Amino acid sequence: MPFADIIGHDGPKRKIRTALGRQTIGHAYLFSGDEGIGKRLMAVRFAQALSCDTPPASSQPDSCGECRACRQVATGTYPDALMIQPEREKANPQIKIDQVREIERHMIYRPLFSSHKICIIDDADRLTTNAANAFLKTLEDPPDHSVFILVTSQPFRLLATVRSRCLTLKFSPATSMQFEGALALKRAVASDDAKFLAQISGNRIGVAFGMDTAQLRSQHDHFFQLCRDRPPANPTTILERAEDLSKTKRFPDVIEWLAHGLRDLLLVSIGAERDLLLHQKNVETLHHVAESVDPAHVVELAERLHALERAPRQNLNLQLALENFLLRFHQVIRRVA
Ligand SMILES: [Zn+2]
Repeated sequence: MPFADIIGHDGPKRKIRTALGRQTIGHAYLFSGDEGIGKRLMAVRFAQALSCDTPPASSQPDSCGECRACRQVATGTYPDALMIQPEREKANPQIKIDQVREIERHMIYRPLFSSHKICIIDDADRLTTNAANAFLKTLEDPPDHSVFILVTSQPFRLLATVRSRCLTLKFSPATSMQFEGALALKRAVASDDAKFLAQISGNRIGVAFGMDTAQLRSQHDHFFQLCRDRPPANPTTILERAEDLSKTKRFPDVIEWLAHGLRDLLLVSIGAERDLLLHQKNVETLHHVAESVDPAHVVELAERLHALERAPRQNLNLQLALENFLLRFHQVIRRVA
């Protein structure tokens, strides 16, 4: 059943299904919560349940997920359900006034097939001021058959007058158990990998689905390669490593695996539980490194890393900044076998 494949979000799901069952559908909903946790999917499931040609006979309202209407809603081609989103490829993606005019044209006519005319606005906080004001007019006097679903991770960026006209449903990231269950079910991911993805994505299932576990693991292995670099006191090795990293790797990725590695090292050096670590597979190496490291120095490295992260914005020479960081890194972290 389509609603059943949404992991977690029991509160919003229950409210939507109750409204469907009692036929007390509101004119406007605001789905708010972190990026990549399933708000948009829920909006699609909601639209499918409103439009399905052959809904299953069940006490819990749902859609079949397979009829023409369900398939067209999912692909954004259903005549009674309009999908609006900003132009994501732009540097500053916006939902413009032309798109609001399109919404007006869509919503004004009675639905052709469904009982409702639906409009899902993804990243609704991206409405420009002009567009938001124009949209507010539609929202103030919505046609009877209309259902608006606004999806956003930044509700505070919406006009307060738009927000107040919507029924807000708050979405939270999945719990670790829900997350690992979902990954095991949908991607046949091993438990160790599921834990790894849960930590990296902050339990955001939508984000985790797009991640390549093997690639991420090999990226994060660079941290342990660094710890193994020999001889650590030899500046030439360090400079070559900095050159290699600054030229061949994406800088934000380098920052990320360094940050995760240092975090794990700090956790191990203060005796934290294994479950809290990202690199549970490398726990022995971490212990080995931690034995000869002062936690205060790891904190200092983390601070230096934070400064390094800002280097591109300050137009600093990345290779030079990385060299400085790695020189200190190898003073703090002595070679491990
Ligand atoms: Zn259907």
